Amino acid sequence: TGYTVPFDPELFKLSLLEMMDESGVRMLFHSFASGALPLDDGSGWRVVFETKSGPVVIDAGVVVDGTGDGDVATACGAPYEIGRPEDGLVQPMTLMFRVADFARPDFADYVREHPDQWRGVHGLWDLIEEARAEGELRLPREDILFFATPHPREIAVNSTRVNRVLGSNVWDLTRAEYTARRQLAQIDRFLRTRVPGFEESYVVQSGTHVGVRESRRVLGDYRLTGHDILAARTFPDVVAHGAYPVDIHNPRGSGTVLKRVPQGSFYDIPLRCLVPRDTERLLVAGRCISGTHVAHSSYRVMPIAMATGHAAGVCAALTVRHGRGPRGLPYRLVQRELLRQGARLRTGAD
Ligand SMILES: Cc1cc2nc3c(=O)[nH]c(=O)nc-3n(C[C@H](O)[C@H](O)[C@H](O)COP(=O)(O)OP(=O)(O)OC[C@H]3O[C@@H](n4cnc5c(N)ncnc54)[C@H](O)[C@@H]3O)c2cc1C
Repeated sequence: TGYTVPFDPELFKLSLLEMMDESGVRMLFHSFASGALPLDDGSGWRVVFETKSGPVVIDAGVVVDGTGDGDVATACGAPYEIGRPEDGLVQPMTLMFRVADFARPDFADYVREHPDQWRGVHGLWDLIEEARAEGELRLPREDILFFATPHPREIAVNSTRVNRVLGSNVWDLTRAEYTARRQLAQIDRFLRTRVPGFEESYVVQSGTHVGVRESRRVLGDYRLTGHDILAARTFPDVVAHGAYPVDIHNPRGSGTVLKRVPQGSFYDIPLRCLVPRDTERLLVAGRCISGTHVAHSSYRVMPIAMATGHAAGVCAALTVRHGRGPRGLPYRLVQRELLRQGARLRTGAD
């Protein structure tokens, strides 16, 4: 079984802003990176952002692409892959939402304490089957997946599924938004009309946009594989760890493949996965780092995305301080600084 760390998204949003403020980050929101050009002397990149104030151009000695989709790395000319090798299909998109005010706080408690067993509670699985048989629930996903939140009368629902759509294609994103919102309405109706205790429940909030699990995987100096993950492989230039399973939501329809990292172990992510090929002074972090379709299904999750973000940020800062690109920087310097900042990193660094 796994475990979850429930958090309140509204508190989280403000906490992140305060952390960035305290760290001296100069923030710029409502800006969409639309292009990048190398600086004339090769000392970095000029990145163009579309904004309400017109284009904003920022010159940087090193760029970290945290767009999830590798938008900036692609604009810088980095090679990338999309989808699984056999047909190029990616994992489906999902619009998450939260349901509040059901008359069964014990249900949220149960979901929190037994994340993998709630399906049996209150005959929920049978009710889902019944609604599917009667055509009221027409979802590609076979079940309804709940997550606890910090609030006793609120749960998060991860059950819409839109297949054959790409996060780097705006027409696909548009179709996915509409499709997912129609599925949300079905689930909301199902809960209120069929599940005892949910008669007065309502959808308190849905994601600001549909969630993309997988799009471009930027090719780096090393490409992490599913084998590396399931063998809990170590690397000398490790900058982050992961222990989340291989977790592939079927790109074609229903079903999810789960394969666990051996009990009690974890795998390394080498710095080379954050350094895109054929480019200089560029790093990637989060779900667009370098790995296969299978490896990506594990390292795409939030704690690991945060760890690679931390590593890319440290590497970028050291790169600028030492006046060279990420490839010219000894990885031990990155590891030492991560450890100094409190990262729990198992390294050979002294
Ligand atoms: C439905 C769903 C459920 C999930 N459930 C879990 C879970 O329970 N636990 C877990 O750990 N993980 C979960 N994941 C995975 C995890 O949420 C993501 O993989 C993770 O957030 C990836 O982080 P990221 O920072 O790389 O990308 P993202 O979270 O996608 O962030 C990228 C950011 O860049 C911005 N951006 C994109 N393009 C541009 C551009 N061109 N210019 C400027 N800004 C841009 C976006 O607006 C966004 O803010 C889930 C994912 C989905 C879709």
